Amino acid sequence: MPRQFFVGGNFKMNPASLEQKRSLVKVLNDAEIDSATEVVVAPPSLYLLPLKESLRKEIQVAAQNCYCKVSGAFTGEISPAQLADAGVPYVILGHSERRTLFHETSELVALKTKAALEGHLKVILCVGETLEEREAGKTADVVNSQLRAVVSALKESDWSNIVIAYEPVWAIGTGKVATSAQAQEAHADIRAFLKEAVSPAVSESTRIIYGGSVTAANCKELSTRPDVDGFLVGGASLKPEFIDIINAKK
Ligand code: PGA
Repeated sequence: MPRQFFVGGNFKMNPASLEQKRSLVKVLNDAEIDSATEVVVAPPSLYLLPLKESLRKEIQVAAQNCYCKVSGAFTGEISPAQLADAGVPYVILGHSERRTLFHETSELVALKTKAALEGHLKVILCVGETLEEREAGKTADVVNSQLRAVVSALKESDWSNIVIAYEPVWAIGTGKVATSAQAQEAHADIRAFLKEAVSPAVSESTRIIYGGSVTAANCKELSTRPDVDGFLVGGASLKPEFIDIINAKK
């Protein structure tokens, strides 16, 4: 079965006002979008429910993070059970900003992924190397070790609810997009890793999306690569050009 193209918008800690949020919703609701593509937007948690209510039904929402426990004394955290109860279908985990600024280890990301899946959420799992690691020829090692922690925590059937986002840290928010050849190579390596570490079926069916300075100008070329199954978009997801990225395959 062909893998369904997937485009996620990661709003990060934006927009700064309700007014800006309303105009984003209007752009998304008024646009003509490719019905063959799965579209998910991840606003700050405060806006998850209002966005879910005001967005057209074809566009789903995702949390940008969750904790690995069901409930309890964890000030500032949201649990997978709470997200699922609120009707939020997806959560982004392991984003490089969480790994670097908030010191999340691959082991914690694996615990969160397991808890999210047990809580009936789908997970957009982010992995990627720094510029230093790429220049040292360690891209595949770094990405595989981030994935290995998750593989150890999961069952094979869990993978049907995971989308992997390959996001090289040096491309995130920098305007320095990976070339389509670099993205294809990293995605093919991830697929090869899944084949060996999980199963050929999981390797074949798991969507691997690219993130890092994706724009309307570069998305078409990236989308022609066989192992690029979509995008996770930061900065450009806050602009009308997000529509062109959603429609990259059209
Ligand atoms: P960017 O962010 O598109 O602004 O580079 C991507 C991301 O962090 O998911």
